[in-house]
Amino acid sequence: MATPQPREPDLKGFLREIHRVETSLRLWKAEEDIENLERRLVALSQQDSLTGLPNQARFIDRLNQAILQSQRHDHRVGVLVLDLDRFKRVNELVGHSGGDEVLQQVAHRLEVTVRQGDTLACMGGGRFLVLLPELKEDLGATKVGKKLLEAFRSPFKAGDRGFQLSASIGICVHPQDGLDASTLLSHAESAMYRAKERGGNRLECFTTTLNQLSLERQELEQCLREAMQNGELQMYYQPQFHVDGRLTGAEALLRWNHPLLGSVPPTRFIPLAEENRLILPIGEWALREACNQMAHWQALTTIPLLLAVNVSALQFANGDWEACVVRALMESGLRPNSLELELTESIVMRQGREDIRPLHRLREIGTRIAIDDFGTGYSSLGYLQRLPITTIKLDQSFISALQVEGPEVSSEPIVRAVIQLAHSLKLTVIAEGVETEGQRDMLEHLGCDNLQGFLLGRPLPAQAFEALLESMDEKAFLDIARLPP
Ligand code: C2E
Ligand code: MG
Ligand code: MG
Repeated sequence: MATPQPREPDLKGFLREIHRVETSLRLWKAEEDIENLERRLVALSQQDSLTGLPNQARFIDRLNQAILQSQRHDHRVGVLVLDLDRFKRVNELVGHSGGDEVLQQVAHRLEVTVRQGDTLACMGGGRFLVLLPELKEDLGATKVGKKLLEAFRSPFKAGDRGFQLSASIGICVHPQDGLDASTLLSHAESAMYRAKERGGNRLECFTTTLNQLSLERQELEQCLREAMQNGELQMYYQPQFHVDGRLTGAEALLRWNHPLLGSVPPTRFIPLAEENRLILPIGEWALREACNQMAHWQALTTIPLLLAVNVSALQFANGDWEACVVRALMESGLRPNSLELELTESIVMRQGREDIRPLHRLREIGTRIAIDDFGTGYSSLGYLQRLPITTIKLDQSFISALQVEGPEVSSEPIVRAVIQLAHSLKLTVIAEGVETEGQRDMLEHLGCDNLQGFLLGRPLPAQAFEALLESMDEKAFLDIARLPP
């Protein structure tokens, strides 16, 4: 048998083989590239290109997962919709690239505010979504909402221009406010719009929103009638300060805590109470309650504090009002010069010379009289000169427009003029709605006397306000005897 000859190396075959391997390697590599590309495309399609944050599609995926998980582990899921207030104006002022710059800064601030595990998404146009996948307590979402609002305290920058921005936040919680992703998002959105309606820079929870909207007016009226008897009305006290930081007193603000509706804001129930004249007994109760409370606090500190109480138009027009104020002072033992009655411009403007006599008489016994929301009505300071008033309360809208850029939109010239004129008439000026350090500094610079606003202190229940008083050194109080008479 012939021994097999060693085979000539099949060079051609070998080359063919290499080519095949090479081709399949290339194909394989291409497939890998395509997969990578696909992955990147999916990621991109789920990401906001400006901020790099997840977009709405990715948010909904995660919300669906969180809902599934929550059913297994029995916890709640929070959804927040945050929308920048008046963001269009920023774009108008600095163009879209400036607006984009600001949006990136907002995204960054929000990102460092939410916790790891929460999802922050960007929908574009100044709107963000937050998912809180594991809420342990009912108020958890509200707490996060408040932290997010606080992230807007310091100004943002576009180029070398600074902007004060604020946001409106709507909150809803699974399962009580909705069972699926789209319901939750739409409910949080309607709560956000409610926050906008109320002037922005605030948060609203869906539960209250829904209840408030769905509750028939008549039912609300009936509830309000019962509220006084059931002890559902409560006074809150918002501290007021001298610009040097010392406490001067507090404004008493009504709150209605309904067992099912939750907290009903005064802006909703006071107009209703005015229509059905319930404001008369409610207003009288508020005045007496606040006077008693302040008399109690004055006994705790040696320095008298000032109590500001709001008066509605109907109360003022009611023949019994003056006697009601005097009764509240006598019963509580509060000195008349510790009480400041807040009336709006329209209330006093509507009255004839005769009808403001009660104001003169109350002023004669030492009671202070303030014009609330000054600037929103039509009265001139010249007209006010003829009224026995002691204080001008600059409306919040002027304070929030103080640091807006541009001479035609900034309220600075008006605020400066009002303060100068008020001082020449020997009136005290207090600014309400002070929310940022910048506003405070500017008001101090413009010569404003006193300040009130979230920056310095929110309205507090009596107990919390008392704790605040107890925590303060007496040097931190301003003796109201030092205010102009
Ligand atoms: P107001 O008298 O002008 O009270 C100031 C309002 O501004 C309060 O709202 C207060 O919580 C809010 N506020 C205070 N600081 C800030 C801030 O820095 N930023 C913002 N965005 N808001 C701030 P609230 O308590 O909801 O009261 C609304 C209005 O309801 C009051 O406006 C007043 O007109 C009326 N009101 C409240 N309590 C009474 C009351 O006892 N009697 C009467 N007749 N009206 C009342
Ligand atoms: Mg007021
Ligand atoms: Mg006001």
